[in-house]
Amino acid sequence: MSSPVDVAHSVSRNLLVITWDDGVISELPIAYLRSWCPCAGCQGHGTVVHRLDVPDDVRAAEIHEIGAYALAIRFSDGHDAGIYSWSWLRALAPESEPPGLKTGEFKDGRFGA
Ligand SMILES: [Zn+2]
Repeated sequence: MSSPVDVAHSVSRNLLVITWDDGVISELPIAYLRSWCPCAGCQGHGTVVHRLDVPDDVRAAEIHEIGAYALAIRFSDGHDAGIYSWSWLRALAPESEPPGLKTGEFKDGRFGA
């Protein structure tokens, strides 16, 4: 499993830049991360994670690490319940299969349209 060696928040570009230990660099727009919030409040308690519809101008008000395994992000809409594990961030990354920003839903470890 990949883990990050660097996480940078570009306020001007409104995205998170993660450098992974295998050399991959992922650029994750903040609104994109908000749309894939994994928390129960956004997703319910099912086994399928859906992409939420959120405004493109959502920003990150605060980002901090949780232990060595995840990021907590407080978004400009006030939402802060999502725990973004490294594996979840890597699954969302444009470089992971299927390539490009993910849409649709995530189930059983796979993204579908
Ligand atoms: Zn949420």
